[in-house]
Amino acid sequence: MGDISGAREELDRLGAALRAQLVELITDLTPGTGLSLLFLDAPTVVDWADPPRYHYSGLIRGQRPATVPAADLVERAAALLAAAGWEVGTEEVEAGAVVVTGHRQGNSIEVRVSGRSSSVMFSGQTPALALSGPGEFRRPDPVRTPETLTPGYVLCYECDGLGACPECNGRGRLSNGHICPECNGGRFCPICRGAGQLAVSELSPFQRTYYPELRGAPE
Ligand SMILES: [Zn+2]
Ligand SMILES: [Zn+2]
Repeated sequence: MGDISGAREELDRLGAALRAQLVELITDLTPGTGLSLLFLDAPTVVDWADPPRYHYSGLIRGQRPATVPAADLVERAAALLAAAGWEVGTEEVEAGAVVVTGHRQGNSIEVRVSGRSSSVMFSGQTPALALSGPGEFRRPDPVRTPETLTPGYVLCYECDGLGACPECNGRGRLSNGHICPECNGGRFCPICRGAGQLAVSELSPFQRTYYPELRGAPE
């Protein structure tokens, strides 16, 4: 594989540090918040440059306890981050909301405390890292070949068994970064929906024209 040596480990380390800090903040500042929605389990694509870059990012809403004034929560958030070695800033934004920011080793965290409601938004992200060298995105293997077709099926005329969208090779985007017009970013072949094959009995008359070998066969 063409992985840049250690890049994935470095990204995972940053993601774990980010998650640990967010969990500490959330459980301290807005106890009772369900942490299962803090999607920090796998890195996501930031941009589709070649090579694509990945980061971990998460966003979750908590509720400020009724007994804690907003200003106290802001102070506590800043103190927790500073104590853990984060570079801290606070900024008042519109409608009396205050944003506490933290930066550490490329990671960033924002705690947005509403001035109008008890809502507290926590968000964080790691820096974006390339996990492979340029030009290493590979066309995936086809999900069906003439040898592995289900009886009564034919290879999808659109993707030829690939299953992935044949226009973008399953990336969902073109190399210029635009959403793929064929699959609309869905990554699957829009005709067979990823199956790579089509049931002969369900082909429309139009679709049958792609298969000259079916001419004269019963519909
Ligand atoms: Zn297909
Ligand atoms: Zn596509």
